[in-house]
Amino acid sequence: MKNPHSSVVRRGTISPNLGEPLVPALSPSVVYHYEDADQLQSVYDGDLEGFGYAREGHPNSDTLASKLSWMEGANAGVMTASGMSAISATFMSVLQAGDSIAAASQLYGRSLKMVTGDLPRMGFACRTFDASDPVTFKRAITHGTRVVLAEIVSNPMLRVTHFAELVKACKAVGALLLIDNTFTTPTGFRPLDQGADLVMHSVTKMLSGHSDLNLGYLGGTDSVLLDKISDVIATMGLNASPYNCWMAERGLNTFDLRFRQAQDNAHKLATFFDGHDMVEQTHYPGLSSHPDHQLASSMISAGYGAMVSFVLKGERAQANAFLRGCKNIPYGPTLGDVSTMVIMPAVSSHRKLSRDERLKLGIKDNLIRVSVGIEDFELIKREFESALELAGRT
Ligand SMILES: *Cc1c(COP(=O)(O)O)cnc(C)c1O
Repeated sequence: MKNPHSSVVRRGTISPNLGEPLVPALSPSVVYHYEDADQLQSVYDGDLEGFGYAREGHPNSDTLASKLSWMEGANAGVMTASGMSAISATFMSVLQAGDSIAAASQLYGRSLKMVTGDLPRMGFACRTFDASDPVTFKRAITHGTRVVLAEIVSNPMLRVTHFAELVKACKAVGALLLIDNTFTTPTGFRPLDQGADLVMHSVTKMLSGHSDLNLGYLGGTDSVLLDKISDVIATMGLNASPYNCWMAERGLNTFDLRFRQAQDNAHKLATFFDGHDMVEQTHYPGLSSHPDHQLASSMISAGYGAMVSFVLKGERAQANAFLRGCKNIPYGPTLGDVSTMVIMPAVSSHRKLSRDERLKLGIKDNLIRVSVGIEDFELIKREFESALELAGRT
């Protein structure tokens, strides 16, 4: 075959063919080139659809963002490098000098660090509220509050946010409500339908589902606001990689099946823990003993989530024996994986808090959080049964 190239570094094109690939193409190109200056100008002016430079957007992020926007009922959405960059992008886009923010006191660890440490350092004061106690909303959300950040189900106590009351408190002062919907997923709850302005996901977790990429999504009802945020994402370099978007789109194909199985397992596992001698207390919104069971039942559809936490009886020695007994259940500080994982928040996600601060949030020393996977339930039960037995003999 004659080499059609004048140099190996000059890129060729894929020869045209009749077959359409079934799988979306991975488009790693950083740059998209055009015939002449007029054509490029038309792309920049928005008269022609096209990409220019990957930090500003690329086909894989557009495709994935439009799928997630469809799931969340968002008018516009954008992918970011990670869940944390979706949250950063929001604050960096909407805060003006003099603004303050408000946030739930139980948030993902890094989110809490951002709102109580990094943003105050930049001059944005933050007040926190208890998302399961509406009385605290009005004190924290006042005139001058520009953005409010909350989750629907908290980690690791699995308390449920009084969402309707939170929306009212935000609307009363014109604050933007950003919901981190990672735990609940759009199958469980769609915040934008119920009055939130923005919704974000750590796509790293349940939506992509295989713990092999970091990715974030941010969607909203106001496409002008989303354009502004997209612009900040490009400026601050918070953009998602084509490869991660492409991988996440593949994972997303099985999200519904995975989530259904994981929720089903979680409910059975919570019931199992609840009746076990070595368990002091089980936290799962699906149990009628959970303080927010009613609220969860009225708010969240299709199940009560894939996270369960429980307090193991005994001291650190029993916890160590239990964790050693979980031979095939990885100790993993993440969630939403196909595999079941455990963590002890007191030594992982909440280790930076003092013991008193943890206890105030309800996080006892021997609290174990389980991110329930999609394995056969009998296997999960057998493994936890033997780990609990080991703890019981210690
Ligand atoms: C993991 C997680 C994040 C952060 O997402 P990254 O993709 O790790 O940046 C934010 N919120 C919640 C609830 C999470 O579980």
